[in-house]
Amino acid sequence: MSDLSKEARRTLADQSQIRSIKPVDVRTSSDGTEKYLFRLADGESVESVLMFEPGRATLCVSSQVGCAMGCRFCRTASLGFRRNLEAHEIVEQALYARGRLLPDSDITNIVLMGMGEPFENFGNVREALFRLTSPDYVGLSKRHVTVSTSGNADGIRSLGQTGPDVNLAVSLNATTDEVRSEIMPINRKFPISELMRACREFPLKPYRRITFEYVMLRGVNDTEADARRLIGLIKGLPSKVNLIPFNPFPGARFERPVDADVERFQSILAAGGVSAPIRKSKGRDIAAACGQLKAEKDMPPMS
Ligand code: SAH
Ligand code: SF4
Repeated sequence: MSDLSKEARRTLADQSQIRSIKPVDVRTSSDGTEKYLFRLADGESVESVLMFEPGRATLCVSSQVGCAMGCRFCRTASLGFRRNLEAHEIVEQALYARGRLLPDSDITNIVLMGMGEPFENFGNVREALFRLTSPDYVGLSKRHVTVSTSGNADGIRSLGQTGPDVNLAVSLNATTDEVRSEIMPINRKFPISELMRACREFPLKPYRRITFEYVMLRGVNDTEADARRLIGLIKGLPSKVNLIPFNPFPGARFERPVDADVERFQSILAAGGVSAPIRKSKGRDIAAACGQLKAEKDMPPMS
């Protein structure tokens, strides 16, 4: 900025930071998926994943360093909780990813599905959402930004009351309180009935739907009875379901169901009027599932 005086430049250099997070590991998968590991100013690290589909570039960002929620099937949980991300640390993940794209392309979608539970850090997450969707900052459409929660009903209500009116995704992952409490401890605080009530009361704009994520764990939540209960739980609610076959990691207690079981589950849902795409994992060769790259770098594989 040679149009500023030397003194002004020195003051700026002393008092301001352009970026506070630094990419320390960037990996590109054979399917094009990119994964970034960022070092934060205090030495902590988080990761983001950029996935490509025709006409779409979706960035998955982290909202916390680690996560305190302890979901049994999640690699991030095994890292424990370190700290909340500041709003700028969330936004900078998007700015970095944008900087890696060709000049005539841009990030089209952002999902808060990386490390962390967004509603445990809602003050900073809300501020980050405003910046990501404000035309004065990152400028994404609110329709293309999604917050994913493990089921914090209070958080869902807060988002509904205060906005911004981004999309809501809920990681349901089970259809009975017994199983859900076993695999997602947050269910003891917000059981399925309360979670679904918060979802039903969530103010949805026309043509918007709530996304329910369903990580399929072999022999745990993949039965025909589960599929039927799932149909009952979301009946009448503008929604869609994403089926995510469990992504294994070293030391995990669960297995991925065989493809035929996932397809059977999907066809029962379809017969009940629920269309549920099966989400293929992307970037498996670069440990792209949430928490995996950081886990690989920070600690020896669990056994
Ligand atoms: N904390 C938020 C967002 C981050 S987790 C949440 O729980 O929704 C993002 C998604 O990854 C969630 O839907 C979660 O259920 C899913 N997930 C976590 N571990 C997984 C694994 N090993 N295999 C497949 N999906 C997983
Ligand atoms: Fe945290 Fe989400 Fe992983 Fe649960 S699934 S431990 S809430 S990041």
